[in-house]
Amino acid sequence: MNIALIIVAAGSSTRMGGKIKKEYLSLNNGTVLSEAALSFLKTKKISNVTIVCPKDKDPDAQKAFYSNPETRLLTQNIPVSFIKGGASRQESVFNALNFLQTEKPDIVLIHDGARPFLTSELVEATIKNTVKYNASVPALTPIDTQKEIDENGFIVRHLTRKMLSAVQTPQGFSFEKIFTAHQKARIDGKEYTDDTEIFDNYNTEKTFVFDGEEKNKKITYKDDVNLLNENSLCEINSKSGVSKMIRTGLGYDKHRLVENRRLIIGGVEIPFEKGEDGHSDGDAVLHAVTDAVLGAAHLGDIGSYFPDTDPQYKNADSKNLLAFAWKDVKNAGFNLENLDIVLILQSPKFLPYRNAVIKSIAEILEVPEDKVFIKAKTAEHLGDAGNGLCLEVYASCLLSK
Ligand code: MG
Repeated sequence: MNIALIIVAAGSSTRMGGKIKKEYLSLNNGTVLSEAALSFLKTKKISNVTIVCPKDKDPDAQKAFYSNPETRLLTQNIPVSFIKGGASRQESVFNALNFLQTEKPDIVLIHDGARPFLTSELVEATIKNTVKYNASVPALTPIDTQKEIDENGFIVRHLTRKMLSAVQTPQGFSFEKIFTAHQKARIDGKEYTDDTEIFDNYNTEKTFVFDGEEKNKKITYKDDVNLLNENSLCEINSKSGVSKMIRTGLGYDKHRLVENRRLIIGGVEIPFEKGEDGHSDGDAVLHAVTDAVLGAAHLGDIGSYFPDTDPQYKNADSKNLLAFAWKDVKNAGFNLENLDIVLILQSPKFLPYRNAVIKSIAEILEVPEDKVFIKAKTAEHLGDAGNGLCLEVYASCLLSK
């Protein structure tokens, strides 16, 4: 059986407010357009693909379609055409049907390029029902009670929700029947809202309605993309991360070890004969962490936040300094993915305090402990750190938003 797929992506996306057409926005491993096509291609039942776009052989549409290597792989042996759409959706679909007439497919599936979240099961169901009924469409019963209103906004009819259906795409048709119907509609010069209406108007058969998918939403407003991306953020992230902004940060600090000072590491006091010199309490670990997170968020550094010339930070608790800076990072919309720290300390032995330090830092940042790690290295008695004159810290963090 010859099954043609038409994807309509000719609109200007005026409701999106952006410069990029919604079908070309990044999603998963490709774009909205490539993801819309994939569920069809994965069934291995599609004989040819026609993308209706702003111009013939549109390079932007081709780039968006092939953005996911999987679409290229799955279309290796089937023709894919990029043809110019019309001023309306109806005209765009007509152009595609007209283009396909030499191919003479048995059935044609017409899908919105801005519906990327359908499953292959829905495609299979559309094919099956179209073969059986000549016309079929997935739909959902509206959640909200529906009313018919007049032009002034007053209710004129109370509709029965159970008898209503919000139709989705793909809409499947016998090619011959929908093409004939479109030709007649064109001669009549009438504008229809979708292809099922055109089919119904020029055929005695009815369109079969079956269960659609809730997630098969049409991206209409820019917020839809954000919302949908947020909903599937983990999925997107695990697949190579589109849409989620990732920033790394690196912090470094070095303090002298002197007598009559406390040794404070990551907010935990460790008994030792020397402690960190410094204007504040000298907690070099927390200073490096503060610099890492501020840097990743492009907010500044510890020196610009808490100048050591300012008397108010004399002997300051570095936990408060980090908490203050971290609040700004959070307010800028960032979350901590992880924080990893290297502490270069000849002595004392750090390992007995490691868990307490991890807990302390996680508490300051209000994150689970498994997002924070720290390990100590001796400097093999080399250099200032190795001779116990100082300690050094490197902190690396990953932020996302
Ligand atoms: Mg410091």
